[in-house]
Amino acid sequence: MNQTVRVTVWNEYRHEKTNEHIGKIYPNGMHNAIGDYLKGQPGFEVRTATLDEPEHGLTEEMLDNTDVLIWWGHAAHGEVQDEIVDRVHARVLDGMGLICLHSAHYSKIFRKLMGTTCSLKWRESGEKERIWVIEHGHPIVEGLGEYFELEHAEMYGEPFDIPEPDTLIFISWFPGGEVFRSGCCYHRGRGKVFYFRPGHETYPLYYDQNVLRVLANASRWAAPGNGPKPVFGHSQPLEEL
Ligand code: ZN
Repeated sequence: MNQTVRVTVWNEYRHEKTNEHIGKIYPNGMHNAIGDYLKGQPGFEVRTATLDEPEHGLTEEMLDNTDVLIWWGHAAHGEVQDEIVDRVHARVLDGMGLICLHSAHYSKIFRKLMGTTCSLKWRESGEKERIWVIEHGHPIVEGLGEYFELEHAEMYGEPFDIPEPDTLIFISWFPGGEVFRSGCCYHRGRGKVFYFRPGHETYPLYYDQNVLRVLANASRWAAPGNGPKPVFGHSQPLEEL
């Protein structure tokens, strides 16, 4: 795609302000760590939005001018207003891309789009994660090796209660023996949805070059195409009956 992709990086932005350790890792918040990287890549126009802004920063104007929304949430999923969730949901069905990161598996918007509990196993012990590429020709894995590793990560393990992905891009392995579907693509209406696992707030994972590369690739993949809008309802025959 040659046209500019307008990305909005949304962050709950609470941990960075309330926890000194996390604030040191992300002095300007995770949304700006991701946003600053994307700004340095060709073809992106980047804005950010956070939970405590009016309308969570996701006004009609903001969403109308967003091709891809990146979502990070963890401790305050319940504070996201249903009205805003409905607004984001409608935009996804109308073609906006959505990338849900890490603990956003439990966000209202991801669960609404999936229709399942999105529950999983977890453990926070700073273990290594090896992320295997499963779909080698997919645009989201462009520039990666056959796997990449994160030295310290929170473990997420199966079962992950999601609908079967349209395309499974990554599987993670953890030293405790668990595996996890860590990169999952979906189509919902005209929109594309990507779930990507890495990103626990106490580890500096949004500075990792492979993670960032995936986010840039996924943003390009999830950008809306120019396909026709679906037409529903009563239909006149196109041929004489
Ligand atoms: Zn986490």
